[in-house]
Amino acid sequence: MAFKPANNIQDLQYFGEFGGVNPSISDSSTYTFLSAKTMFDTFEGNADGCYLYSRHSTPSNLYLGQALAAMEGTETANVTASGMGAITAVLMQLCGAGEHIVSSRTIYGGTYAFLKNFTPRFNIKTSFVDITNLESVESAITPKTKVLYCESVSNPLLEVADIAALSKLAKKHNLKLVVDNTFSPLSISPTQLGADIVIHSLTKFINGSSDTVGGVVCGTQEFIDNLRNVNDGACMLLGSTMDSLRAASILKNLRTLHIRMQQHSLNATYLAERFEKDGLKTVYPGLRSHPSHELFKSMMNDKYGYGGMLTVDVGSLDKANALMELMQKQNLGYLAVSLGFYKTLFSAPGSSTSSEIPEDEQREMGLSDGLIRFSIGLDADIERTYEMMRTCMQDLNIL
Ligand SMILES: *Cc1c(COP(=O)(O)O)cnc(C)c1O
Repeated sequence: MAFKPANNIQDLQYFGEFGGVNPSISDSSTYTFLSAKTMFDTFEGNADGCYLYSRHSTPSNLYLGQALAAMEGTETANVTASGMGAITAVLMQLCGAGEHIVSSRTIYGGTYAFLKNFTPRFNIKTSFVDITNLESVESAITPKTKVLYCESVSNPLLEVADIAALSKLAKKHNLKLVVDNTFSPLSISPTQLGADIVIHSLTKFINGSSDTVGGVVCGTQEFIDNLRNVNDGACMLLGSTMDSLRAASILKNLRTLHIRMQQHSLNATYLAERFEKDGLKTVYPGLRSHPSHELFKSMMNDKYGYGGMLTVDVGSLDKANALMELMQKQNLGYLAVSLGFYKTLFSAPGSSTSSEIPEDEQREMGLSDGLIRFSIGLDADIERTYEMMRTCMQDLNIL
């Protein structure tokens, strides 16, 4: 039977303390106990349903974690203060000094910088590979490798990872397959394809209102317990804990994720098809010209489409900048990083979100100067948006 991530979220039932239709927010950093013994047991993690201190866990964070675990089909989940808070904790939990990571080379700039510049201080080394080339992935694996890391749809090049094939490799070599699914919530369900751990930046589509940062790690009960362990858990000890007020507001936004993703996908598909027909170099997994179109199609939960992200190469950074400024002036969106907002957001990743990646490496992976990354918004009239964008491009001699 097909996996139904949105049904799984909807089927959870929560009530507030006074019968409210939303769960009550736990607005406390610490909790009282009637007995000292229960306090000790709770600290040790042996008293289910009791709360001790809000860096460990809070009711609001557990509700949100439960909904996201339902969405990804994992046993449980732990929410974090940001996507990077989730990524860094997972990698530090899985790897120690002398160990090794094999990672896709086209990943979020912050993740790339963490693996390239930060973890070597702890003698954790990373080999960056073309994730779409399974042979080069396998040949990078060494006896020290612990983790295979990728994004289901990569930032910003929109490469698609063959999660089932990577999972086979991971199992063969006894690695954990960690997948950042930030670009494709609901559309792709990595654990259904064999991923061990799924991470999201909640900052993007899942929260969808560009008003907070947040993250989540979805995985087995055992792994999440490890992350939260008071003695050696990376989430517990590195301290990237989400605030309860934020957890409550993200949970409410999650209620409309399935509708938003359908509209993002619909609008992005419309624009990508038109742009491509106009002769622009357009990358969108929903286009038949995308090298991994069939792969995405084989992995996706049909209803949610190919997502809201597309890229267009307009030839040069000057043209990209001029177009973005003009589109913002015409109120077609904002010249801003990030994604998943109701308004279209656009940026030139080479000089912004991926500027951590040195220029020669950018070129090698196909990240050109003129590339604009679009997060397509929820526009009610995408035909009008297209006409206006086309006029901007014509005015700048891009079309
Ligand atoms: C934004 C982003 C992150 C980092 O998330 P933050 O919430 O900003 O810490 C990680 N991965 C991807 C794919 C992202 O887009």
